[in-house]
Amino acid sequence: MIIAITNQKGGVAKTTSTIALGGLLAETSSCLAVDFDPQGNLTTGLGIQIQPGQKTSYEVLVDRQQSAAAAIVETKYGIKLIPADISLASGEKQILHLADNSRILRKKLNPLRQEFVHILIDCPPSLGMLTLNALMAADAVLIPVQCQFFALEGLRQLLETIESLRDEDTHPNLQILGVLPTMADRTLTTQDALKTLQTKLPGIKIFEPVPKSVQFPESNLAREPIHRYTTEKKLIEPYQAVVKEMTEQI
Ligand code: ADP
Ligand code: MG
Repeated sequence: MIIAITNQKGGVAKTTSTIALGGLLAETSSCLAVDFDPQGNLTTGLGIQIQPGQKTSYEVLVDRQQSAAAAIVETKYGIKLIPADISLASGEKQILHLADNSRILRKKLNPLRQEFVHILIDCPPSLGMLTLNALMAADAVLIPVQCQFFALEGLRQLLETIESLRDEDTHPNLQILGVLPTMADRTLTTQDALKTLQTKLPGIKIFEPVPKSVQFPESNLAREPIHRYTTEKKLIEPYQAVVKEMTEQI
C-alpha cells in the first residue's frame, strides 16, 4: 500500500511521522520511504548524506530512464529510502510543461509494489505538482494536523483537492486513511482543536493524538525513529495505532 503523508502546512510533523511509522513498519515487513520534499528532512532525519552519483527523487521525477528502484538506499533501521535534496525543487519546475505530469511518480513507484508491503511518501509543505504526484501515486493519505488554533485552516483546501481527484475520475480510489493530530498537550487550545477536528470532519477517521514532547525533536537529532529513541509508551502508541490501521487496510 502506498501512503502519502501530506498537509500543505509546514511543521505539522509529516516528516517525524514518516520516520516513526517507517521505523515501526520496518520491524515486521518491508517499508520504503520516499522523500518528496526538496528540504530533504526525511533524508537527513534517517541519517543519510547524499553521496556523489547517488540518484534521488529528482532524477526519478525528471529522467524517464531513471527507475525508482535504482535510487533506493539502505538506512539504519531497515527502512529503505529514496532520498531528496534541493534539486527536487527545480524538478518540480521541469515537469510543469509535460503532458500527464501528475502521474510520473505513480508510474515510477508502481513496479515497487511487488517488493515493498508499505511505501510512505513524505510530502512538501505545498499543494503543488510534487504533492499532486504524491497524491496520484498513493492509495491513501494520512494527514498530520498540529493541535492549535486554526487546525482546520488549509485542511479544507487539501480535502477539496482530494475530493476533486476522486470526482473528476482522475483518482477515484484515493482513500483517506485518517487525520493524525500531533503535538497535543494539556492546553485548552489542544482540546479545542481536537473537538473541532472531531465535529467538522464527519466520516474521516481521527487517530489518537500524538503528545507534544521534546523527545520528538531529540529523536530527529539522534536520527532515530521514536520507538528506538524512547520507551515511553504514550509517544509510541499513537503511531502503532496508525500502523495497525494501515496493516488492516491491505
Ligand atoms: P513537517 O515535516 O510537517 O514540516 P516535522 O516532522 O519536520 O514537520 O516537525 C516539525 C518540528 O516539530 C520538528 O522540529 C519536529 O522534531 C517537531 N515535532 C514533531 N512531532 C512533535 C511532537 N509530537 N511534539 C513536539 N515536537 C514535535
Ligand atoms: Mg517535512
